[in-house]
Amino acid sequence: MIDIPVPALIAVGATLGLGNSAFMLFSRNAALKRRLFPVTLVVGAVLFLVIVHRMFGRVPPIMWVAIAVIMTFTAVTVRFCDACGMPGQRLPFGPPPKCMRCGAAIDGPPAR
Ligand SMILES: [Zn+2]
Repeated sequence: MIDIPVPALIAVGATLGLGNSAFMLFSRNAALKRRLFPVTLVVGAVLFLVIVHRMFGRVPPIMWVAIAVIMTFTAVTVRFCDACGMPGQRLPFGPPPKCMRCGAAIDGPPAR
């Protein structure tokens, strides 16, 4: 395995996270976001687990479970406004949320 220092891994994660946040906030392309969102979730989780492993020598089993639960919940509940592409969270109960940017109901399909 390539021996990348932990601070460099954190810098890479922060840079990717900022770039992803900017894309999610400013792009209006909901279809592209639906395709890329699961990839960003997996990349973020893998990077996080690599950093934890490098820092502590192992990843506790509870952390694997927590990451899997958080990723699944996020992938299932985050939707994108069809009108403007803004992300929102649709819970399994209740009406679809209103878009923070344009006010349309966020009722599109989940990311895939
Ligand atoms: Zn909108």
